Order: sequence, then C-alpha cells, then structure tokens
Amino acid sequence: MAASEGWNMPTGELMKGKKGLIMGVANANSIAWGIASQLAAQGAELAFTYLGEGLERRVRPLAESVGARLLIQADVTDDASMDAAFAELEKEFGTIDFVVHSVAFANKDELKGSFVENTSRDSFLLAMNISAFSFVDVAKRASKLMPNGGSMITMTYLGSERAIPNYNTMGVAKAALEAATRYIARDLGPKGIRVNAISAGAMRTLSLAGISGGRGMISQGRAMSAMKEDTSMEGVAGAALWLCSDLGLSTTGEVVHVDAGFHMMGLAGDEE
Ligand code: NAD
Repeated sequence: MAASEGWNMPTGELMKGKKGLIMGVANANSIAWGIASQLAAQGAELAFTYLGEGLERRVRPLAESVGARLLIQADVTDDASMDAAFAELEKEFGTIDFVVHSVAFANKDELKGSFVENTSRDSFLLAMNISAFSFVDVAKRASKLMPNGGSMITMTYLGSERAIPNYNTMGVAKAALEAATRYIARDLGPKGIRVNAISAGAMRTLSLAGISGGRGMISQGRAMSAMKEDTSMEGVAGAALWLCSDLGLSTTGEVVHVDAGFHMMGLAGDEE
C-alpha cells in the first residue's frame, strides 16, 4: 500500500514556517515519501532530490501533490551533482530547518547467502559510500544552510546491531551510519542542530525487494515483534515528525526504534 493510502494523517501546524529537504523518494512506497507526506500535512515546505531521470516521472507528481517548489536530481556518489543540488537548494530556500536522508544501496548479489563468502571489496565500499558516508556529506552541506539550528534524520535497520540473514553488507553499512549519526550529532550540537536515526522494522519498498528473502524479513519481524504486527508507515512518519519538529528539542544522537518492539525481544515464541 502506498504511504498515503488508508492513512488518516494527522494534520496541523507543527512544521509551519519550516523548510527542508527530502532525499530518497523513489516511488509512493518509499519511506521518504511517507515522511514527506506527514511533514507536509503539518505545514512544512519541502524540496526533494531524486536519483536519475528514470525516477523523475514517479517523484514529480508526488512532490507536486504536496506543493513542493523544488525537485532536484542528485546522486550522492557524485560530488558535482551534490554541489549543484545544494547550490540550487540554497538559491531557492536560502536556509533550511531539516533534512531527511533516506538513501541506501548495496549490490543485490551481496544481499544473500554468506556474508563472508559473498562480500567483495568494491561492493562493500559502494554500500558504505551510498548508505553511510553520504549522510556525513549531506550533514556537512546541509549544516551550512542551518544558521538557526535544525534537525537531520536518517533511516536505519536492526541489521546494524544483530546479524540478520541476507542483510550482510548493508548491516555493516547501517552500523557505520548509526555511529556517524552520533559523531555528526556531537559536532553539530553546539550549532543547535539535532541529528538522529530512525531504526524502522522491515517494510515493503523497492529497497526491501532487493534483499533475498525480504518478505521473510517482514513476516518474521512481525512474528518476533512484541506487538505481533507490521511496522506502519504512520509510526515511522510520526517519529520523523517528532524529531524534525520542535517536539524533538533536546533529543540528539539517538537511534529510535520504530519496529513494533522487534528490536528488544529475546527468545521467539510463546512461554510454554
Ligand atoms: P526506497 O528504495 O524507496 O528508497 C531508497 C532510496 O535511495 C531511493 O529513492 C533511491 O533512489 C535512493 N538512492 C540509492 N542510491 C542513491 C544514490 N547514489 N544517490 C541518491 N539516492 C540514492 O526504499 P526505502 O525502504 O524507502 O529505503 C529508504 C531508507 O530506509 C534506506 O536507508 C533503507 O535502508 C531504510 N530502511 C528501510 C527499511 C525497509 O524495510 N524498507 C527498514 C529500515 C530502514
């Protein structure tokens, strides 16, 4: 189900007067789109980046539906494209108040089987570059547009803390991303910029489809969760709203789990 379907999104003014950048919408199922919809419903003014022309036809109607006045192509592995994207953002918005980094990639043939056997140097570094370093780079660029402080969030998964079948290289990249979140939070804290990660349970998106047994991550995650239910886009977007708005004041360097309690369970199954 697309992020905005069947979801009674709370509207209001928590983000009124705030401007920000959303990175990582590929289609209506993207977590970034769920978050963007919620932030817009609370009055945020949004700019979007998307990867490559092929995605523009999907992202443009979504961005236009929430009145975004800026849609920019940006590849996080390409400095020239990032320079151009942030120059355009600065020209159009001047300053910003928040950034949502919802970007990750690893080669499909490494997201299966043995981590030890299947991990090559090039693919490992690619996953680290796109999924972890990019947040450091985005934080550096975005912080220059936040003279009055702000909030940055990124998306992670429990595979950073636990060895999850098939998640492999991406789990290592997410561990780096979470550590980077703390270091960025430490550096930018004195500037009034808060930096946090949301650790979401498995959700049906394009990225999940690239992981061998991705559907099993959803069904097993549900079965092993405290609440015995799927992670909802509402919950993830609600956490993003908390962290991006002034409700999140004083929270920084945190990894917030939004996974129906999957992360804290011990043994699976019933007591008897
Ligand atoms: P998605 O495929 O919709 O989003 C991933 C985005 O990353 C896409 O928009 C893609 O274009 C972008 N991207 C990839 N390489 C890029 C590059 N070089 N430059 C710029 N953008 C690039 O899938 P999603 O599930 O919404 O993923 C968003 C984030 O949430 C990712 O960090 C993912 O790891 C994380 N996450 C996903 C789940 C899940 O189960 N779906 C759970 C926890 C965390």
